[in-house]
Amino acid sequence: MQGVKQEIIQNMQILKKTQNIQTSVSRVECYVCGKGLEDGHSISAKTLANGIVLFCDVHYSLQ
Ligand SMILES: [Zn+2]
Repeated sequence: MQGVKQEIIQNMQILKKTQNIQTSVSRVECYVCGKGLEDGHSISAKTLANGIVLFCDVHYSLQ
């Protein structure tokens, strides 16, 4: 049981970090098409050579 508890704590820390990244960006939108959460797309961050870039569900799989 202790291992499971540890895993939950780690997941929560990752979640907190992800939220910090999202709040530091003024508008969450796709780097390619410019569509964002308001357009019904799920946005995911990907770390590229030039920094953290956001992609929608469509373009994330293409990168
Ligand atoms: Zn896109």
